[in-house]
Amino acid sequence: MEDKNDLMEKIVSLCKRRGFIYQGSEIYGGLAGTWDYGPLGVALKNNIKNLWWRMFVDGRDDMYGIDAAILMHPKVWEASGHVSGFSDPLGNTRFNLMFETKVGTGEEATKSYLRPETAGGIFVNFKNIVDSFHPKLPFGVGQIGKAFRNEIAPRDFVFRTREFEQMEIEYFIRDSEWEKSFEEWRTEVCRFNDAVGITKKSVHELEVPDSERAHYSKRTIDFEFDFPFGRKELYGLAYRTDFDLSAHERASTVELKYQDPETNEKFTPHVIEPSFGVDRTVLAVLISAHTEDELGGEKRTYLKLKPAIAPVKAAVFPLLKNKPELVGKAREVYAALKKEIPQIVWDDNGNIGKRYRRQDEIGTPWCITIDFDTLTDDTVTVRDRDTGEQQRMPTVELSSLILKKLSVIV
Ligand code: ATP
Repeated sequence: MEDKNDLMEKIVSLCKRRGFIYQGSEIYGGLAGTWDYGPLGVALKNNIKNLWWRMFVDGRDDMYGIDAAILMHPKVWEASGHVSGFSDPLGNTRFNLMFETKVGTGEEATKSYLRPETAGGIFVNFKNIVDSFHPKLPFGVGQIGKAFRNEIAPRDFVFRTREFEQMEIEYFIRDSEWEKSFEEWRTEVCRFNDAVGITKKSVHELEVPDSERAHYSKRTIDFEFDFPFGRKELYGLAYRTDFDLSAHERASTVELKYQDPETNEKFTPHVIEPSFGVDRTVLAVLISAHTEDELGGEKRTYLKLKPAIAPVKAAVFPLLKNKPELVGKAREVYAALKKEIPQIVWDDNGNIGKRYRRQDEIGTPWCITIDFDTLTDDTVTVRDRDTGEQQRMPTVELSSLILKKLSVIV
């Protein structure tokens, strides 16, 4: 147990020291349940979100992306059941987790909420997507965005926060197809875990029993992860039946049905919902990547991040900082590479060994050193983060080597 707490402490401190994640409003003493992503954190997070979008939206013919407003008509949350039921027990009462806010001014102001999940924005746009794109069933709508919950006890770093991000899909199907579709998405969730580098053996599927499932769900699997503070939910996969579209149709009085173009039959689609938390992904990725080993007789800590999601893909070094010809050549290599691979950095601080350690600690897969040989034969050394091995290669081949490794998703 001690070791595990230790690991969390190491990750939290690395995140702060190296600019991944800071406490929200830190100079004012912090605001519970909020965290700010620093330069490396936002890069890691964006890489994760981009990979998700590429896998599940751009990479498929049956998916549509949206970006709905965070503020929605309050009736959305009445219809979805959040106003009456989205609460946790607190003392003898139940405490609704939605943040209330006022939209408009004075007498005109109406009470609304910061959305507690992104899914609502998808359901209310179902008709828009159908009218604009005429998709054939099955099809899905994906969205990435912020969600807010006034959690009673925010804790465990970015695991349980009051402001977080979700990546959600509502996949619309015929009710007869639900089992097949559920299985397909179950496989897709695992594929995503592999792609971002979440340790397979630390993920466990929990079949949520009838008594604990939301009333509208006929089947839910929680994908749990062995966090240092316990085995906890990472993602959810739920068969939500036709509950949401039917509820929004009743409350809005706008028909939310699908008409089969061949048979003209009209019906309310059912839905499979894979729901991914961005921040929990970031945490599970960091925990999975955190590695301690010995290299060249020295202990080191490094993040074994997949190159596709590493915040920095490569660091470029001049061997010596005080040799203008080396620095000039290194700047040239750096500028050319940065045009093709923007997530690279320049580092000329301290000796090469220190630079390697610094890059290892933030998970940079490759370090490129420009030395005296470069000036004569235009080759550089490329050092691999995981093995520490160095390889000499022509400068002109650098970008294609890196780009090739970055494009390997799984
Ligand atoms: P929990 O039981 O841990 O509170 P939940 O079952 O309420 O989670 P869902 O409503 O299924 O969570 O939300 C979908 C996903 O959103 C979760 O799997 C998780 O990744 C993420 N998520 C939910 N609440 C939070 C939070 N407070 N902080 C960070 N991520 C969250």
